[in-house]
Amino acid sequence: MKLELYDTYQRKRRRFAPLQGNEVRMYACGPTVYDYAHIGNLRTYIFEYVLRRVLEFHGYAVKHVINITDVGHLTSDADSGEDKMQQGARRSGKSAWEIAELYTRAFQHDMQKLNILQPTIWCRASAHIPEQIAEITQIERRGFTYITSDGLYFDTSKLDNYGYLARLDIAGLEAGSRVDIGEKKHVSDFAMWKFSGAETARQMEWDSPWGRGFPGWHIECSAMAVKYLGAQFDIHCGGKDHIPVHHCNEIAQAEVCYGTTLANFWVHGYFLETEQARMSKSSGEFLRLATLLERGYDPLSYRYLCLTANYRSDLKFTWDSLDSAAMALQRLRAAAHSWGAAGAADEATVARFMGEVDGDLNTPRALAVVWAMVKSELPADAKKATLLCVDRILGLGLRDWQPPAVEIPAQVKQMARRREQARANRDWRAADRLRAAIHQLGFDIEDSVTGSEIRQRKT
Ligand code: AMP
Ligand code: ZN
Repeated sequence: MKLELYDTYQRKRRRFAPLQGNEVRMYACGPTVYDYAHIGNLRTYIFEYVLRRVLEFHGYAVKHVINITDVGHLTSDADSGEDKMQQGARRSGKSAWEIAELYTRAFQHDMQKLNILQPTIWCRASAHIPEQIAEITQIERRGFTYITSDGLYFDTSKLDNYGYLARLDIAGLEAGSRVDIGEKKHVSDFAMWKFSGAETARQMEWDSPWGRGFPGWHIECSAMAVKYLGAQFDIHCGGKDHIPVHHCNEIAQAEVCYGTTLANFWVHGYFLETEQARMSKSSGEFLRLATLLERGYDPLSYRYLCLTANYRSDLKFTWDSLDSAAMALQRLRAAAHSWGAAGAADEATVARFMGEVDGDLNTPRALAVVWAMVKSELPADAKKATLLCVDRILGLGLRDWQPPAVEIPAQVKQMARRREQARANRDWRAADRLRAAIHQLGFDIEDSVTGSEIRQRKT
């Protein structure tokens, strides 16, 4: 087992080995369910679940947790602004609980369409308030908090290595900060509990030792990850935007509570960008998977497109690149279908393929191995078996793919009926003429003991 992963915490590629036995405990920051996921978010989940497939390919039992952020993620990372869920509720006229449900389901539906595996455990922030309060209480007891008029804050200046994950230059941040930090003592301090406030009625709020309110965004991940995976687990992943704030804060909380860095590996996916700028939910303009489907694309074409780029580089989305991905996927499918039944996989190709994915998930190079195999002189049954084997990681659904059923035109059906009639009348010449005409129209008649069938012409 030679899997190497780039660990953002240590800023280097490291050989992966589980902390305990054969089990890999992995946490992925989940979606904030105040809106649909955009295809950029989905890129991150595709990469995380490729990682999971690689771990499973190597025989590890993966315990995979993903959270649903349904409370507490504010519109600004600086702990100001509105709760995104409240905002979504106001915009749609539905309750915050209703939109959480709606967008969670929509997200799960998108995952399914992209062959992204279900995690072992889904957990919702709003269903884990006592766990979050317990963790905050612990942090408070250790003296790392202070109260302002709007909440309970983590005092980052008290932690020697706060921000190490992102190599934050705290002094520089303080000096260069132009944002109004309100009553916060330092620009990097963050809220763990926010008070509801008298003016605005909140739909999601709970009692706590500090007053009625709701948890900050970062505490939910530390509390739920520790509950399900323990205080130091194997892999924590997310998009690269989480490095400077969210994940630094998750680590700060874990360091104070448990003396751990939460995860042995911190793995981050880079962004999908549009031609103008990076895609983001809050900017309002974004592409959903449903938009791609409306335009006639197979969702797995988007999956293929994501596999053509390394997860540690940004990927610029263009319709042309999606077209190329769709074409490549179609060629793979057609080739796999034409090869018939699978025999034994070609071990050398599988080893080459795994060598690439084990090198920090180099899926573009792994795809190149696949294409070299497709064009090789290997026998068809070996090619088929090899492709199905590596598709356990690619997740392109090649085993189940069938060519779409072709609609047989009414004219062809009618000619086939006339031919049946001619055969019944033993008018072989007319029957042959009709068969030739049907062939001209792109179809063939296959006669068997059970009757005649119309098939799309093969050549
Ligand atoms: P959110 O729902 O905004 O909390 O984001 C869900 C996941 O998508 C997180 O892991 C983010 O880091 C990730 N993400 C957000 N925007 C992009 C993007 N443009 N490309 C790739 N991943 C993204
Ligand atoms: Zn998180």
